[in-house]
Amino acid sequence: MKAVKYHGPRNVEFIDIPKPQAGPGQVVVKIAYCGICGTDVHAYSMEGIFNWELVLGHEAVGYVDEIGEGVTCVKVGDRVAVGPPGDCGKCYSCNSGKPNTCINGFPNTIGIGPNTQGAYAEYVLSKFPQNELFIIPDNVSFEQAVLFDVLAVGFHAVRRSDMKVGDSVVVSGCGSIGLSAIQAAKMAGPTYLIAFDPLESKRKLALEVGADYAFDPSNENDIAKAKELLSQANGAQVCFEAAGHPSSIDTCINLCMPSGQVMLIGNDGRPYQLVTAALGHYQYDLKFTFTYTKEEITMLFALISMGKLDTKPYSILKAPLDDAINKLEELATGKLELARVLLMPNGNI
Ligand SMILES: [Zn+2]
Ligand SMILES: [Zn+2]
Repeated sequence: MKAVKYHGPRNVEFIDIPKPQAGPGQVVVKIAYCGICGTDVHAYSMEGIFNWELVLGHEAVGYVDEIGEGVTCVKVGDRVAVGPPGDCGKCYSCNSGKPNTCINGFPNTIGIGPNTQGAYAEYVLSKFPQNELFIIPDNVSFEQAVLFDVLAVGFHAVRRSDMKVGDSVVVSGCGSIGLSAIQAAKMAGPTYLIAFDPLESKRKLALEVGADYAFDPSNENDIAKAKELLSQANGAQVCFEAAGHPSSIDTCINLCMPSGQVMLIGNDGRPYQLVTAALGHYQYDLKFTFTYTKEEITMLFALISMGKLDTKPYSILKAPLDDAINKLEELATGKLELARVLLMPNGNI
């Protein structure tokens, strides 16, 4: 079968590998769509993301093609999403309610872990079906379900934050992760939900998914307007940083109220300098957030199914698997501005 193998930055190959077979407890999924994640684009364009070989692809949907002995969680023909979480269920993080920080999670996650075979391929083998296969509700389309990785990151960030109904919230960075944070924060009932992005096209999308205001972080008047809106508490109770850019962290700290919380969702390779003497007396709560849990994927599918979560603002483009390398290059060089490119390893199925 056809697959796309990653050897290193700008060294990706279209290859032929044997179709996987389901051993005891395992499941083979025939891939309908696999999204090209920002993580894949970063690994394609810069050093230090994946220091190993693998077949890319960790956010996919398709049909259960074969089940191994003893599998009861799915049956052949089921429509499923396949991808992270890769939690082991045994370590301290897994057993203390934080499986997304499982110390064994990385190597187990298909399309992320060293030498794993991800879903930039016609079929993918799930060795941990109870952890990484999610049955898609009948009224949720493959095009909606394949966004689970995007939607779940912002959703988890809001659930992990201290945000309470009535709080005012800032989301800085309105790429697909920022949009998912805006949607989740909207569901949590903010007073003012203020988005920031330097690009007008992204500010428009932020308003579309529920932000009350969308401002340009480089415009002093816009910053002043946000401060005025947030003046009751001298800032936002929670600021979500979703761009990963150092200047976006600055925007969040600048607009956070004393004793407020800055949730760091974005990841960036550049160092960030923090002058503690200038910030300590504000007693900010800086907190990281990472990926999501399997329960959160199930919640998101229920929310989409009930019409409480709109996936229309997420732009998608479908492409054949053999176009994956071109699409990685176009995404890396900023030629494509989309929420997701969906690879179709089996054509239209
Ligand atoms: Zn991803
Ligand atoms: Zn674990």
